[in-house]
Formats: sequence, structure tokens, C-alpha cells
Amino acid sequence: VTAPRASLAAAACAAALLTLPLARGDEPPAPVMVVDLHVDLPWQVHVKGRSDALTEGHTRLEALRRGHYGGLVLPIYLPDKIRPEGPSVADAEAVLSTIERITAKHDIFLPLRSPLAQPGRISTWLAIEGAGAFAADLDALDRFIDRGVRLVGPAHQANTAFASSATGARVAHGLTPLGKEMAARVYARGALIDVSHLSDAAFADVAAIAREHGAPIVATHSSARALAPSPRNLTDEQLRAIAGSGGVAGVNFHAPFVRTGDAVTLDDVAAQVEHMVRVAGVDHVAIGSDFDGGIRAPEGLEDASKLADLARLLEQRGMARADVLKVFSLNALRVLAFRGDGSHGRGRVPTTTLPTAGGPL
Ligand SMILES: [Zn+2]
Repeated sequence: VTAPRASLAAAACAAALLTLPLARGDEPPAPVMVVDLHVDLPWQVHVKGRSDALTEGHTRLEALRRGHYGGLVLPIYLPDKIRPEGPSVADAEAVLSTIERITAKHDIFLPLRSPLAQPGRISTWLAIEGAGAFAADLDALDRFIDRGVRLVGPAHQANTAFASSATGARVAHGLTPLGKEMAARVYARGALIDVSHLSDAAFADVAAIAREHGAPIVATHSSARALAPSPRNLTDEQLRAIAGSGGVAGVNFHAPFVRTGDAVTLDDVAAQVEHMVRVAGVDHVAIGSDFDGGIRAPEGLEDASKLADLARLLEQRGMARADVLKVFSLNALRVLAFRGDGSHGRGRVPTTTLPTAGGPL
């Protein structure tokens, strides 16, 4: 079995598990499984002192269960100000150790790179948020990709040696020459660049390199700027570029990124999803909650358990159940299956083939 076939088989397997068992008679339909492209659980445990028992916060285990979570992208978040000279590769090692400890401690988590989506368990993938520490050592970045990092965010709040940030000091450049080299190297190694937190100029530079590599553009946790004018959000033009690449944008639940003003509610989040789907298409929107990332959660979406309410609301507002499933998990799974070999495709995760076992995803 070649690598692309293995990836597709895994994705198809996931799709089968996500959609089965089908409802029969009067039984309610199976809940919609969530694959969330960004939750800051590692930061809470590694930096903020949360217990690794995971009984607190937006993503406590009980909330993940009640929200029907089947997958989480866990960022190795490297704060710009972790030390005066900025974060180091050793800091990334330390966070990765914490993530490995958390996922090993709780049975609900499948080990990194294990076969995807067993019912009642949660798959995990790694990302790096704010990769500036790797500017002096791109070989180290290769090693993190080999250890399971699927997404690399070149900058966080501040500009780095790789890229200008959406919220950094104004500079003329997007990606630096080193940032362009890094992005090409990440794609060639089968991982992805995360454009969330990047400036518009850096987004454009990433888009050009993604095109050269046939890679999907992924914004793990960014909503639509048309409804909430933050530089952290995506313009409609950027949403269309993401769609054209076969990529996804994960809607971010931070209230000011959902809608300006007070009293942001679940309905406003639904409106964000609907706008993003209208502009980018239903194959290019995902969930990137930013839970536990210091966000102000909307009313009615207070923690991970409430994702089921969002699914129900989207259906009530007219979205087909099959489309909710795409937004909640299938689209994320498609891009996470990228391996630099064209296997992610622009199409859909096949839902009609039901292999009996999936390979590592
Ligand atoms: Zn972030």
C-alpha cells in the first residue's frame, strides 16, 4: 500500500466511524463528531499550572466527551515573551513532553500517529504555534515534523525571523527569505503551514508557496473578517484562496473574532460558519475553537460540551447534516491527511468506501 492510499484509507475509515451507526426508526441520529484544529490544552497544563487530570476548563475530559470530540490538534505554543531572547527549541521539547504525558495518562486519547478515530476515543495531532525559535535550526523543525507535527505557524503575536504577524509591528515584508525557505521545506516534508496569526502579506506569500507544492492553505483558528473586523480574521478573498487550494479555515470562537460588540451568542457563531461556507464552500470550513487559549467564549458555547448545540443549531438554521459533518470533522481530517504527495486532493473524504482498517493518519 502506497502512502497516499494509506492516507485515503485512514480518512475513509474515519468517515465511516463518524457517520455510523446510522439512525434507525425513531432513534435520534448519531451525534456529529468534532475534530478541532486548535485547543490550547497543552498551554494550560504546561504554563498555567492546570492539573493534568483534565478536570477543569473548556476542554476538561468530561466536556470533550459530551461534545463528541473525536480529534484535537494540540499546539506546541511558544509564547514570544517566554524569555527576553524569545523561545528556544528546548522550550518546544518541553511542551512536547507535556503533551506526550497528557495523552499517555488518559485512555481517551489515542497515541500520536495511531490509527484514527476509534469510537469513544480522541485522536491527537501536533502543531507548532509561533515557530520563530526554529529560525536558527531548521533541522530541528524537520525532527519535530518527523515526531508528528502536522502544522507549523511561522509567527504568533509578534513578528519572527520567518514572518510578519497579523498583530506585530508594521513591516513591509510578509514571509522573510528564511520564512519562504522554511515554508517550502515544511511542505516538502509533508507537513503544512498554518496561516492563522500571519499578516495579510505573509498569507499571500504562503499561498504562493502552497500552490507550488500542491498543498492546502490552512488557517487553524481564524474566523471571517467580514463579520468581525480583526486582523486575526480572514478576508473573503483569503477564504476563497483557501478554498482554491483545497484547504480549510477553522472558525475561532473568541467572541471578538465572532462579532464586534457585547453579548456574542451561539447564533453569531452559526452566522460565522454560514458566512464562511457561503464564501469558501462547505468543503473548506472547519472548527478551530481556540478553547483554553484565553478566549472569551460566546454565550451558549461556554466549553467543548456545547459543540453538540452548535451542530443542532446549524441544522435548525438549514444546513444539511452531511454538511455539518464536513465542517465539524471531515474537512479537518482531509487536510490533516496531507503528506506532500497530492493525496489530500481537492475533493472530499470518500464516505462510500468502508475499509475495515485505517493506516496511520
Ligand atoms: Zn492562536
